[in-house]
Amino acid sequence: MIYRPGRIFLSVPQMGGHEKNYVQKAIEDNWVTTTGPNIPGFEHDICQHTNSRHAVALSSGTAAIHLALRVLGVGPGDEVLCSTFTFIASANPILYLGATPVFIESEAETWNMCPDTLRAAVEARLKAGKKPAAILLVHLYGMPAKLKKIMAIADEYEIPVVEDAAEALGSRYGGHQVGTFGRVGIFSFNGNKIITTSGGGALITEDKALAEQARFLANLAKDPAPHYQHSQMGYNYRLSNISAGVGRGQIEVLETRVKQRREVFNYYRKQLGHIEGLELLAEPHKCFSNRWLTTILLPEGHTPENIRLTLEEENIETRPLWKPMHLQPLFENNLYFGNGLSENLFKRGLCLPSSSSLSEEDQEKVIKHLKRLLEEV
Ligand SMILES: *Cc1c(COP(=O)(O)O)cnc(C)c1O
Repeated sequence: MIYRPGRIFLSVPQMGGHEKNYVQKAIEDNWVTTTGPNIPGFEHDICQHTNSRHAVALSSGTAAIHLALRVLGVGPGDEVLCSTFTFIASANPILYLGATPVFIESEAETWNMCPDTLRAAVEARLKAGKKPAAILLVHLYGMPAKLKKIMAIADEYEIPVVEDAAEALGSRYGGHQVGTFGRVGIFSFNGNKIITTSGGGALITEDKALAEQARFLANLAKDPAPHYQHSQMGYNYRLSNISAGVGRGQIEVLETRVKQRREVFNYYRKQLGHIEGLELLAEPHKCFSNRWLTTILLPEGHTPENIRLTLEEENIETRPLWKPMHLQPLFENNLYFGNGLSENLFKRGLCLPSSSSLSEEDQEKVIKHLKRLLEEV
């Protein structure tokens, strides 16, 4: 990461204040390891906040996706239907398991998985004699996907859904927290997300057996024996008690962070919404977004890269939208169902500085330069 003093970053952590109490207590009590009271405490907080029955704290969101797919039985030779418009961490765990992602295009209202395309893909794969083993549904930039339609298709064909809510903690669909609709939901607490443990993740589920299996595998699949016996291949995906302490402090302020990020979005909309040809993503019916990142589609005649480089000269960090998975060299041979919508978004879109701690002054600076660049055509 480039750093010059005064830089306006895309998304930085913001401590709530109580993190250091939890961390200090962990150090004082010598719980400086991957067990200790902050871990079940943090898991309890996650359950409370999302209204879910079981939570397993883990070392990253990627680890959570890996375990989610693994406990659902995804394995070598399987196909997983995955949102194409996402970050690589959604799709990599499918490869870790020797399975194959099949990419599904977005729809224009939420930029997330298109239900019609999903149905077409399920039917096509069934016809080819390949029943998809799971659906990996992403809620990108905090915007909930069209959960009602997606879940109806998943139920009809009896395909389990993993919700990748890494960017969407605190977002709701029809009043319910995202991550609670699928068989398993996952969150990330990486440093750039809406709240952080400095690095970490979690998996939530209503299914006790799945939660226990995930916890078992995350702890190297140690069979109950004093001599370290193993009958399955596990992973070391545990979160440390120190990180969980940061998480406990952070979750106390999650609702405030959601409010702040939404205010950042609203102010951008107010100041930039009138620019001809510029588009901001509205919240469709039933969707409440945590507005993790404010994204814009640029008017014709502008490229995200030009704007990004010009803002870079002002020490302002922006970022292109995620490059769709079906366009990644890694996945050039994978199946893709869609019409190119996400490719268009990728060609036109930009993520703006959206930190909850973004000062009015800094946001004004971003807006001033964007207006200068976009209105002078
Ligand atoms: C951040 C992110 C992840 C992975 O989370 P890590 O904690 O960084 O491993 C997965 N999916 C999406 C969509 C993300 O943005």
